Amino acid sequence: MATLEIKDLHVSVTTDEASKEILKGVDLTIKAGETHAIMGPNGSGKSTLSYAVAGHPKYTVTSGSVLLDGEDVLEMSVDERARAGLFLAMQYPVEVPGVSMTNFLRTAATAVRGEAPNLRHWVKEVKGAMADLDIDPTFGERSVNEGFSGGEKKRHEILQLGLLKPKIAILDETDSGLDVDALRVVSAGVNKFKESGEAGVMLITHYTRILKYIQPDFVHVFANGRIVESGGRELADQLEEHGYVKYTGNQEAAK
Ligand code: ADP
Ligand code: MG
Ligand code: MG
Repeated sequence: MATLEIKDLHVSVTTDEASKEILKGVDLTIKAGETHAIMGPNGSGKSTLSYAVAGHPKYTVTSGSVLLDGEDVLEMSVDERARAGLFLAMQYPVEVPGVSMTNFLRTAATAVRGEAPNLRHWVKEVKGAMADLDIDPTFGERSVNEGFSGGEKKRHEILQLGLLKPKIAILDETDSGLDVDALRVVSAGVNKFKESGEAGVMLITHYTRILKYIQPDFVHVFANGRIVESGGRELADQLEEHGYVKYTGNQEAAK
């Protein structure tokens, strides 16, 4: 059973002018079958956490460790991380003109599975997964993310999740920009993915709304580059009521 262990993770981001520490000692363990919601104000470093685990070159790990089933993730290339079973929802947010979704997904599946899926099975698999997510069949012929609406991009992410079946999925603001109908469909896709009980989910979000559809087992409050409180679902209810002001002392961030 998969386990992702993040220990005392410190991460800096380097810009033209300077290097700034964003993550200041993150500790988090996610096991197969568990859903962990990471909730925090804007700018607290939630995306930095997902980028650092994904291996984005802009984010430098200055100390701490990330292990997947005991293997050192930080030593792995971005591709190796995907093959090891890590999935970052914003891993492919870029537009790829001229590459159809169907081909893109097959390439991604080939990378993760180590061999190309049988073409006929693959087309069937993709069609079924697209139908589950209410994705128009013509979507498969469109270029990757080109002209996709916010909702389509999110559906595309969840489509990948269902097809690539990672061990640990990190979903960063999967709920942002979704109307209620799209949120329901996307959440159903995540819940279907969770059904097997073999994968762990890190669900990063600013708002509690998505947690009405995807039940977290643990809720962590993220502020100033660290997890400052952990609990169960009730913690999300408290955040819904009181916002983040208790953790930041900042009225703006509390919204
Ligand atoms: P969140 O996802 O919680 O809103 P982020 O991780 O996006 O927070 O950002 C945390 C802090 O790190 C912010 O102050 C942000 O400006 C800074 N930061 C993140 N990524 C970069 C980057 N690529 N370049 C410069 N600053 C960054
Ligand atoms: Mg942000
Ligand atoms: Mg973010």
